[in-house]
Amino acid sequence: MSYQVISRKYRPQRFDEVIGQSHICVTLQNALKNDRISHAYLFTGSRGIGKTSTARILAKSLNCTDQKEHNPCNVCRNCVEITTGRSIDVLEIDGASNRGIDQIRDLRENVKYPPTGSKYRIFIIDEVHMLTKEAFNALLKTLEEPPEHVIFIFATTEPLKIPATIISRCQRYDFHRIPIAKIVAHLKTIAEQEGVKITDDILMLIAKKAEGGMRDAESLLDQLIAFSGQEIIISEARKILSLIDYEFYIEIGNEIFQNNKKSLLILAGKIIDDGINIAEFLSGLSEHFRNILIANTTNSVDMLDLPDNVKSRYPEEAKKWQSGDLLRLIKIISDAQINLRTSLNHRMHLEFTLLRMGAMHSTVTVEEILNTVKTPAYANIPKQPTPTVKETADLFQINNSEPPKKEPDLVTESVAAMP
Ligand SMILES: [Zn+2]
Repeated sequence: MSYQVISRKYRPQRFDEVIGQSHICVTLQNALKNDRISHAYLFTGSRGIGKTSTARILAKSLNCTDQKEHNPCNVCRNCVEITTGRSIDVLEIDGASNRGIDQIRDLRENVKYPPTGSKYRIFIIDEVHMLTKEAFNALLKTLEEPPEHVIFIFATTEPLKIPATIISRCQRYDFHRIPIAKIVAHLKTIAEQEGVKITDDILMLIAKKAEGGMRDAESLLDQLIAFSGQEIIISEARKILSLIDYEFYIEIGNEIFQNNKKSLLILAGKIIDDGINIAEFLSGLSEHFRNILIANTTNSVDMLDLPDNVKSRYPEEAKKWQSGDLLRLIKIISDAQINLRTSLNHRMHLEFTLLRMGAMHSTVTVEEILNTVKTPAYANIPKQPTPTVKETADLFQINNSEPPKKEPDLVTESVAAMP
């Protein structure tokens, strides 16, 4: 048998095989059970999370001649024809390449014919948001008075682009991104069946890179198997997935903490010389600080989606930082990510971003300043000529690169008010 990619080979064929979308599958199965079938369904959500697979399973369940517990039998002629894409009663249409009025007019003609060997004629339109305005208007007429035997299943990654008149005639189902743990568990089963040796740490890297999409995760696993064969080691996996080691982020984080300008410039040079994608680096660095922030604010690493050996590094990191500083660092990275698209010199952009992060001084709260004022060392300050705002800030060494504004005003008032 010819080679089949993992995402096709392990495509779910029953509702209970769809991962991470049980809120939808249970509802659809109940609808089948109670025979409350809608004429139009809208499946929304990001790519590769099971919309088209669920549409096919629903189509099979509706036309299956031997439905078992509201799941398709996957054996009868109708089921097999739908699985192999040969059914003439179930048509899959790509909205992106059939977006014009003419194609939708053809569809409206097509809709009139009754099914040949099944109960329903089912039209699955993928990426339906790509249809033109005129095409949507033509489609609307059919949706307003659909023939008894016709069911539409629309799938889209961008529901906001679909006219409200269409949405209001559909039953809408929002698919969720799949949690990392569920992707890892599924990939593990696949690896076992394929006889591939792979650790949980690598599976977690794949799952994170796929950002909640099962199809992407399966494609990445395919890619790793193609490169490494039956045993996958972490260093190769990182290279293939172009991932940066956690250790590197921890190192950069430390240099930023110490504002070690020379080291930051050397590390920026290394990123450029190693051909690391800057957008991916910034995204990873942002996640690193987010992880520290979570560890810092929750006093725990339970919420971190990281391998255990990496997780154990974060309590120590969390102790060093203040949450206000972490939020500001994440904001600097976020700005850098936006500006990267228009930046003409990526090396300079990266260097400035890292230096800016290093130069960002620690957050000082008003309470901390006021506490400093109350210490005996400064008790005789009011006897001096009343300091200016600038002098007050310098006096108490407010570590803020911004010109003193509101906070030093409070200090001045507080100092002036003292006897
Ligand atoms: Zn069947």
